[in-house]
Amino acid sequence: MSQYDVAIIGGGAAGLSAALVLSRARRKVLVLDAGAPRNAPATHMHGYLSRDGLPPGELLAAGRKEVQHYGGEIVDGTVDSSAPGGRGGFQVTLAGGQRISARRLLITTGLRDELPDIPGLRERWARDVLHCPYCHGYEVRDRRLGVLGGTPGAVRYAQIVRQWTHDLVYFARPGTLTAAERTQLAARAIGVVEGTVEHLVLDGDRLRGVQMDDGCVVPRDALFVPPRFAPNDHLLTSLGCDVTEDGWVKTDPAGRTSVPGVWAAGNVVDPRAQVITAAGAGSAAAIALNADLVDDDVRTALATPLEETP
Ligand SMILES: Cc1cc2nc3c(=O)[nH]c(=O)nc-3n(C[C@H](O)[C@H](O)[C@H](O)COP(=O)(O)OP(=O)(O)OC[C@H]3O[C@@H](n4cnc5c(N)ncnc54)[C@H](O)[C@@H]3O)c2cc1C
Repeated sequence: MSQYDVAIIGGGAAGLSAALVLSRARRKVLVLDAGAPRNAPATHMHGYLSRDGLPPGELLAAGRKEVQHYGGEIVDGTVDSSAPGGRGGFQVTLAGGQRISARRLLITTGLRDELPDIPGLRERWARDVLHCPYCHGYEVRDRRLGVLGGTPGAVRYAQIVRQWTHDLVYFARPGTLTAAERTQLAARAIGVVEGTVEHLVLDGDRLRGVQMDDGCVVPRDALFVPPRFAPNDHLLTSLGCDVTEDGWVKTDPAGRTSVPGVWAAGNVVDPRAQVITAAGAGSAAAIALNADLVDDDVRTALATPLEETP
């Protein structure tokens, strides 16, 4: 069984960024990655300074090379469980049964976007069914856009999407809009279509419109959908990390959880993190983690007679 300073579970922007900083800090680092980053269905990544428009996989391939250049190790695989190990460390078990032990754990496993169950919607995800106007809004600017209502905050979200087009329709379930919301939508010329969305209408490989339950098809080029974010946090919760009232694992600004030695960064603890902010959070966690390991090294050195110090 191998012993690492830090096992990083999840090799997306947050995990690889942390691995780069830690391997440059001469820590023995292992990244374990299941290879399914959240933005994998997107053809291009936007808003990352100096890398705008890059295919998401290219950023991660470059990141992996950089980590390996400094001696960081990367293993493709899914971690099934993690548990406290000997001497304050942790043991991680992969799906195939392989076990790894590490002094510290950094969990960067991201989140899942749970989509409404509307026929055609999942198939068009990241193509013309979109969620993040900052990621995709510019690419569909001035087109006929829609926003699927029905979730808390959806009207405000529509007001944000309005930044990218003058032709926006808000799809509302009957009886869900307040008078104030109607007035706000009308004030910025956002159309309202009330009814139940039955399915998306496609024309070859593109969205043509939204089919309502009254038979009417509302022509649209892209539909923005506020998804429900579900963190991939079972490794954190099974270790006993505290969770906030709204269900997200609590960390301090550097990614330290309530369980000593367990850290987290990126979308697994922050649904708002974009690629650049997930990478930044990974980097910040790595710097704090290295300092934590140094404190540990000092304690060990103090407890070790000088002639035994390596
Ligand atoms: C369709 C779409 C398009 C997007 N476009 C953009 C964009 O243009 N610009 C932008 O800034 N943001 C974009 N985002 C958001 C972006 O995907 C996230 O900000 C980013 O992926 C967060 O990075 P992360 O490292 O936290 O998580 P992820 O990138 O999701 O990485 C998590 C990694 O952990 C792995 N993992 C999970 N569980 C385990 C386990 N048990 N064992 C081992 N590995 C595991 C996963 O396989 C994955 O590789 C987009 C999101 C979506 C859904």
